[in-house]
Amino acid sequence: MPAATPDPGAGRYAPSPSGDLHLGNLRTALLAWALARRTGRAFHLRIEDLDRVQEGAAERQLEDLAALGLDWDGEVVHQSERGEEHAAAITALGERGLVYECYCTRREILEAPSAPHAPPGAYPGTCRDLSPAEREAGRERMRQLRREPALRLRAEVGSWRVQDLWAGEVIGAVDDLVLRRGDGVVAYNLAVVVDDAAAGVDQVVRGDDLLSSAPRQAHLAALLGLAEPSYAHVPLALNTAGARLAKRDGAVTLRDRLARGESAADVVERIGDSLGLTGCRTAADVLSRWDPAGLRRRAWVVDLPS
Ligand code: GLU
Repeated sequence: MPAATPDPGAGRYAPSPSGDLHLGNLRTALLAWALARRTGRAFHLRIEDLDRVQEGAAERQLEDLAALGLDWDGEVVHQSERGEEHAAAITALGERGLVYECYCTRREILEAPSAPHAPPGAYPGTCRDLSPAEREAGRERMRQLRREPALRLRAEVGSWRVQDLWAGEVIGAVDDLVLRRGDGVVAYNLAVVVDDAAAGVDQVVRGDDLLSSAPRQAHLAALLGLAEPSYAHVPLALNTAGARLAKRDGAVTLRDRLARGESAADVVERIGDSLGLTGCRTAADVLSRWDPAGLRRRAWVVDLPS
């Protein structure tokens, strides 16, 4: 019998369809694709459309990624169509006593004194150990506010360790994070873990604004009996004033650049320049020439000709 070929795993890019991708997003997507492909992995796209959806943005994002020369395997997944799987994961955690209802408003959480030794911004645990009568009162209050209780993880650890290709070992806080919000929408942290695992994703490449979320997500994966992926968080793109690149910075999307007379190849070249590679005109050039080990962990300052 021939030996089974080991599963090569998969990488992915998972944009939120809240508008057109800017140069920083396009660079992250290109690097996610290149890292997956150079390691023989499949590459998947997932549209994270649980909220912040702008009409038509998902379609434009896919067109832009294709125009840069990225290709992907299988159907594009829409996160909003995966509600059953998300709910099943919450049920599985609940059956192990790891989920509780939270009746706090955002304001109450901000104003509550934080628990001793808790990391800043961590949920103070107000609803973690309520009596049945207190829970009934909380539910009644939610009915009056026409909200559902949020569902939170009953975290049994305070931190978790992940490995990032560029940041190295990262130990980050795990608190009683929200699994389902008060408006009934499943939380990003839960959805991303369930959806990555379902697609066989074992390499998560994304912007480094999400580095601090990785320990929580890896911990959730472990609790759900799912493999923890490897991580590679790409430094963000900044404008010349040092703020995170955004639409208001001018002609920062592929379409904007095309309207200025540049080509997709020019945009790829610009991204290649940011990696210290001159003269890359196609995604395939970046794939063959980019050495991930050499990525500088500094942000990319995008200085565009006006
Ligand atoms: N949808 C998230 C974003 O566009 C990325 C989530 C992820 O890659 O885990 O910022």
